[in-house]
Amino acid sequence: MVKNKNILSISNLKKSYDDFLALNNINLNLDIGEYVVLLGPNGAGKSTLFSILTGMLSPDLGDCIINGYSIKSQNVSALKAIGIVFQQPTIDMELSVLENLNFHARLHGLNLQNLKQEIFNELKVNKLDNKTENKVRTLSGGERRKVELIRALLHNPKVLLMDEPTVGLDPKSRKDLLHKVLSLKKNKNLTTLWATHLVDEAENADKIIVLNCGKILFLGKPNELQKKTRTKSLSDAYFKITEKKDESL
Ligand code: ADP
Ligand code: MG
Repeated sequence: MVKNKNILSISNLKKSYDDFLALNNINLNLDIGEYVVLLGPNGAGKSTLFSILTGMLSPDLGDCIINGYSIKSQNVSALKAIGIVFQQPTIDMELSVLENLNFHARLHGLNLQNLKQEIFNELKVNKLDNKTENKVRTLSGGERRKVELIRALLHNPKVLLMDEPTVGLDPKSRKDLLHKVLSLKKNKNLTTLWATHLVDEAENADKIIVLNCGKILFLGKPNELQKKTRTKSLSDAYFKITEKKDESL
């Protein structure tokens, strides 16, 4: 086990699909308690990176160290430290809210009796306590995402991965989800990597990683990106830095 001050460390990561290079030498570190936004247009490589971080894809080169464990050689320990909300919904529509949460808890070998109160509290905070027995199919998109987030946090992960979690949500649900993640940072010192193509979701980030065509174009604080690009808004800065690389933006 390699211990260092970073909770997540990615080094020299490369991934190709046949001869298409989807991730080109990715290097980044996340510190404990950071809210980091991975900002990039469709096709930038965000989901590919998340697939590697969750062990679904193997990198061609490089490694990811999560909570001190290598995703390549110590994946069981590395994965224990991760909670994820995928880009595509992965919740069972035909099970109730509670059944979905209990199923996930059992998968992780968690003690349901110990978790009962915590699950109830979370459902209450998220205004879902009167829907615990409802099938997920009957919930709104925003409510489903809330259940997915509660599920992702059940095993007490150190790093939360959110892959374009607000796609398809109305503005209020989008704001609620962002607010929730910021409060997890404040109250639990949770580290979050939030992938998005929406610049406004990066406004409150501790760090932004701009990813385009599989390459990191910028890594730093939002205001540093504005300084670097000499622009007045984060949105202008993002377009300026990505426009040279991708004319379709
Ligand atoms: P993002 O999540 O940023 O939209 P992805 O990681 O999904 O980007 O995709 C990055 C690039 O890799 C895209 O050009 C996409 O078409 C390509 N890609 C993704 N998955 C596959 C796959 N399974 N086979 C071939 N190409 C893929
Ligand atoms: Mg994606």
